[in-house]
Amino acid sequence: SERLAARTPSPARLIVLAGPTAVGKGTVANHIRENYPDVLLSVSATTRAPRPGEIEGVSYYFVDDAEFDRMIADGELLEWATVHNASRYGTPRGPVEAALAAGNSVLLEIDIQGARSVRRAMPEARLVFLQPPSWEELVRRLIGRGTEDASEQARRLETAKVELASVDEFDYQVVNHDVGEAAQEVVDLMKTRKAKR
Ligand code: 5GP
Repeated sequence: SERLAARTPSPARLIVLAGPTAVGKGTVANHIRENYPDVLLSVSATTRAPRPGEIEGVSYYFVDDAEFDRMIADGELLEWATVHNASRYGTPRGPVEAALAAGNSVLLEIDIQGARSVRRAMPEARLVFLQPPSWEELVRRLIGRGTEDASEQARRLETAKVELASVDEFDYQVVNHDVGEAAQEVVDLMKTRKAKR
């Protein structure tokens, strides 16, 4: 009945947003952070240095290698990965489990290796693959943001080719034509019943 439906809380969901380099995962996640305050975004731990404007505990928990090792050893990370052969990134387990237990949905913005680990650890997680509108657009975005030198750009594009082939492992695809629309689609996926693509 409608009354029963209204009183039954929608199940808490773990949504994983992943995709190739420069597809705009971070931008979509930030848009969700700013425009959908009811969505909990997991804050990752990382060994990389903060960039200008990043805030400890909001952007990331910035930790050194010894602390990251300790977090792994103590089982504090739900998943972790070395990304772009450089720094390590991981999802603190406690806040995610607490949010789910309290009936809140959680969004993880992590890389594709991380998405695979979450699938193994929590098979009920919904995996969303963020797609670029086209390969040409992905190249344009990577070069346009100018945060990597030419050899690093080439290396990331090689990785992106491999990563784009992993889309079949995901439950959903969202094409990032427009940040606002992509964010809305991801948020909507938290609310609907799970139906494969
Ligand atoms: P950036 O250094 O640009 O903030 O992030 C680099 C990459 O690390 C992005 O692809 C991002 O999705 C990924 N990343 C951020 N946090 C995590 C995490 O907790 N786990 C994993 N596996 N990847 C992460």
